[in-house]
Amino acid sequence: TTPPLALGIDFGTSGVRAAVVNPQRHLCWQYRQGYPDLPAPECWRQGLFALLEALPGAIAPQIGRVAIDGTSATVLLCDQAGESIITPLLYNHPCRESLATVKVLASAQSPAASATSSLAKLVWWHQTLPASTWNQATYLLHQTDWLSAQLHGQWGLSDYHNSLKLGYDVGNLDYPDWMQGQPWSRVLPRVLAPGELVGCVTETVAQRFDLSPQCQVVAGTTDSIAAFLASGAIAPGDGVTSLGSTLAIKLLSNQRVDVGDYGIYSHRLGSHWLVGGASNSGGAVLEKFFDREALASLSQCIDPAVPTELDYYPLAAPGERFPINDPTLAPRLSPRPEDDTAFLHGLLMGIARIEQRGYELLTQHGASPLRQIFTAGGGAANETWRQLRANLLPVPIKNAASVEAAVGSAYLALGWLKDTIE
Ligand code: ADP
Repeated sequence: TTPPLALGIDFGTSGVRAAVVNPQRHLCWQYRQGYPDLPAPECWRQGLFALLEALPGAIAPQIGRVAIDGTSATVLLCDQAGESIITPLLYNHPCRESLATVKVLASAQSPAASATSSLAKLVWWHQTLPASTWNQATYLLHQTDWLSAQLHGQWGLSDYHNSLKLGYDVGNLDYPDWMQGQPWSRVLPRVLAPGELVGCVTETVAQRFDLSPQCQVVAGTTDSIAAFLASGAIAPGDGVTSLGSTLAIKLLSNQRVDVGDYGIYSHRLGSHWLVGGASNSGGAVLEKFFDREALASLSQCIDPAVPTELDYYPLAAPGERFPINDPTLAPRLSPRPEDDTAFLHGLLMGIARIEQRGYELLTQHGASPLRQIFTAGGGAANETWRQLRANLLPVPIKNAASVEAAVGSAYLALGWLKDTIE
């Protein structure tokens, strides 16, 4: 029989985080470490092994399921043995040279039609690597796929969250026709549903880390979807607003929405869709004017019941995509009142209006109507901001139950998608 605990592992931008939960979703153990000082992908692999070493002796053999999430569109090109043959390309690395080719192949509405997409990276490798290197390439893998394979030993597998920006068609659950017969088609991974059982950990892994030989690895997901799964959102109409350095919103929906012009796209989540958009506004603008202490103390002086006259559109630099598509949109941050409290009030309301407009845009394009919002990111700590937002958005606004992507991955390993959403 499968042991009861689930381990979720998150490979974020700064390090490895992990969470172990029991079948009632109670947290049994948590872990957080920076990456070892090694070049990628070795720092990821050693980070994974260090985490498994750190599992307490009473917990390791009780783990029955493992899921991994990683940064979206971080890719590796691997040989037949699964070893990386060239430095991996990270999530934010732009491949502008291959974008023209990608745009000819993929529809402009496709999430693969961007310079940082996994597809742009694959095409760039194919276009620029010497034949002697390219000929060794057997598998294009995402960070999540490669790390999961360190545990189950099966190469060439991915999931449809990570593969969205590769061009995989999540509607038909297949690669579209234009992806077949390309000179790089042979390296594409086989795509599974996130949370689907892949197989047991290898004997070597089980012995080395004192895991049960019955411990199963499931197909993983991306870090931002794992964070969504941790938030407490469970039904269509549940939104998650991330008030980080940028403002990102996600809305669980019965309908799929893809509007390339606004950068809106949908991930499949069980039998539902996770519709998302990201604004260039957000906490980074606040930090241009106030440090964290000032943000916290000035916010307490704002009376959320008193409206502000200021009509800002806070941006750190010109240009916006969602919810206004205008690459030249100028920040609107004047007039600036002498009183800093009044200024911050205007900024927080400006960002709140962008959030409101964002949810409206998603529902206008067919997403399920908003029912409640969970808040994540550095701005979630700001209670005054929550009240200001509640004045605009006619639904309950709560803090996310957990903001740890590792917890979301642990839920995925437990069968969250199956039990909660399908
Ligand atoms: P990132 O998106 O970079 O991961 P975080 O989720 O940690 O960032 O959020 C950082 C942002 O949170 C900062 O840009 C900062 O402006 C914002 N922030 C921090 N504290 C507060 C606060 N009390 N009120 C509003 N915003 C805050």
